[in-house]
Amino acid sequence: MTRADRIGVRLAADELDALLVTDPVNLRYVTGFSGSSGLAVVGPDVRRFVTDFRYVEQAKAEVGGFALERAAQQLHEALKDGWSDGPVRLGFDDASVSVQAHAKLRETLPGRVELVPAAGVVEAERAIKEPGEAEALRSAAALVDDIYAWVAERGLVGRTERSVAVAIEHEMRLRGASGPSFPSIVASGAHGALPHAQPRDVEIARDTLVTIDIGARLDGYCSDCTRTFSTGRPPDDLLEAYALVLRAQVRALDGVKPGLAGREVDALARDIIDAAGHGEHFGHSLGHGVGLQPHEAPRLARTAAGRLAAGHAVTVEPGIYLPGRGGVRIEDLVVVTEEGRTVLSQTDKQLLTVG
Ligand code: ZN
Ligand code: ZN
Repeated sequence: MTRADRIGVRLAADELDALLVTDPVNLRYVTGFSGSSGLAVVGPDVRRFVTDFRYVEQAKAEVGGFALERAAQQLHEALKDGWSDGPVRLGFDDASVSVQAHAKLRETLPGRVELVPAAGVVEAERAIKEPGEAEALRSAAALVDDIYAWVAERGLVGRTERSVAVAIEHEMRLRGASGPSFPSIVASGAHGALPHAQPRDVEIARDTLVTIDIGARLDGYCSDCTRTFSTGRPPDDLLEAYALVLRAQVRALDGVKPGLAGREVDALARDIIDAAGHGEHFGHSLGHGVGLQPHEAPRLARTAAGRLAAGHAVTVEPGIYLPGRGGVRIEDLVVVTEEGRTVLSQTDKQLLTVG
C-alpha cells in the first residue's frame, strides 16, 4: 500500500470521501513534493495534485500516482471542478488552514462538497515510520553522534555558548545536513536551568555543567539528542541531579515497547525523579515523536493517552532544572520495534568531562 492508500483507509474509518492536504510537510509525506506551493486531494478514489507554474516540472519529477493539475492563479481555484457527482465529505486540516483560507475554499467549492475538520489524519500515518524512514532517522542521529565526538575534542571552556552553537550548526552542514532540525541549545552554568535556553555571548566556565541539545536535518528527516557535559568539578547538587536523570532516562528508555501508553512511559522516568524529591524540577514531558519534523506525534507525557506502536520514533528526555544553579537533560532518539526498541542515539551517557 502506498502512503496515499493508507490515508484512504483512515479516511474511510472517519466516513470521509477525501482529504485536502495543504500543510507542506504533510504534502511532502503523501505526494513526495518538496516545493513550497502545492495541494493535494487524496481519497480511496481520488489522487489530485495541484501546483502553480513555477513547480510544474518539479512536480512531474517528484509526484507519482497523482493527476497533476496546474492552477491558473491561486491553488484553491482548481478545486472549483473535478468532483464526483453527489455529496462529498472533504476533510481539511483545521489545525493549519486559516480562517481566511477556509472562507476562500468555501467560496470556491461546489455546495455539495462539505468541509469537515480532520486535522491529524496524515500526522497519525506519519507517526508510524516505514523501514526507509527509520533508516533516515538513524543516519540523522548518527550525524549528531559524530558532532558530539567533535565537540568533545574541540573543548568548551572559554568559548561562548553562541560560538559553540554556531560552530555545531556549521559542522552539521559540512557533514551533509541541510541544517539543524531546530535552533541548537548550548546552556552552561545557571542558564542550564532553562529547558529551552538560547545560547548567549557568555563564555563557558570551568567546573560547571553544559547542556547541549541539538538535531540535524538529513534528507528531510530530523534527529534530536541532548547531552550534558561537565567542564571540571561541578557542584555536588548538580552531580547528584545528573546521576538521577541518567537513572530515570535509562529506566524509561529500557521500558519503551509497543502497547505501553505514552503516560506510562513518562511515569517510568517521572516516578524516579518524584521519589527523589525533584518532581517540581522536571516540568516538561518525557518525549515526543520525531520524523520529517523535530516535534510530531506521538507524545510521551502525563496527559498522553495514546499507546506506543511498532514504527513510532520518539525521544526520551527527562531533565532536572534547579533555578539559579543549573540543569541536566539527557535525551535519546529511539524507534519502537515489534520486540521492543532500537536506540538510535549512540553517544555515551556517563558524565563526560570536556575541558
Ligand atoms: Zn532535544
Ligand atoms: Zn526533544
